[in-house]
Amino acid sequence: MNYKNSMTSTVFTCGEQEIPLKHKPNPRAKRLSLRLSSKEQSLVLTIPPRASGSQISAFLKQCKPWVEKQLSNLTKIFSIQPGEEVVLHGTVYQCVLDPLRRKPALCQVTNTLRLPPQCLQEDLHEFFKKMAGKVLPGYTLKAAEMLGQQVEKITLRDSKSRWGSCSGRKTISLSWRLVLAPPEVAHYVCVHEAVHLIHMNHSPAFWQAVERLCPRYRTHKKWLKVHGPALMRI
Ligand SMILES: [Zn+2]
Repeated sequence: MNYKNSMTSTVFTCGEQEIPLKHKPNPRAKRLSLRLSSKEQSLVLTIPPRASGSQISAFLKQCKPWVEKQLSNLTKIFSIQPGEEVVLHGTVYQCVLDPLRRKPALCQVTNTLRLPPQCLQEDLHEFFKKMAGKVLPGYTLKAAEMLGQQVEKITLRDSKSRWGSCSGRKTISLSWRLVLAPPEVAHYVCVHEAVHLIHMNHSPAFWQAVERLCPRYRTHKKWLKVHGPALMRI
């Protein structure tokens, strides 16, 4: 791993891969810390006052195994094409070429995702959205019911930066990409948004309510953080 200097941004090189590393000096920071920003597609290094260059280099060296792991998650490409496997809502499907099809379709008997020749990405997205429509609204309505709340409307979107949102008008929108996540992770996001019908914040009361409906939510949150960027790239 090389550590190349420039003004405020450097580059981590791990083998063949490179990832931008942004320097964020923070006068209130107590220690050096490194995080992965999926939004910025970079590593962000928080630097406390008076951290020396050698301390920074030593810290980055120490972070190497973690960076490598993050990079492998970030660059893992879900390739939805014949011969590959895809996991949809917890079920593994083999992708196969089906010259008789014009649009992607599932075959539950052979557990295959049938792909037409030259499958268009928008057709694939439309297909995933339809699949998501079969499960996500149900999870959301069930959670809302358990909370004694009503949902005005549920929409499925393709937001690149979030998995779901809830408005003051009690409309919930969810990313159809959740169909590419394990069912329990998709369920967690639906619960999360449903709890926003009561708490429009992330206060301790909010998280307590989430935990009541989804006791393992911390694991699911972590899953999204690690694997989410790859799902966003499909
Ligand atoms: Zn939230």
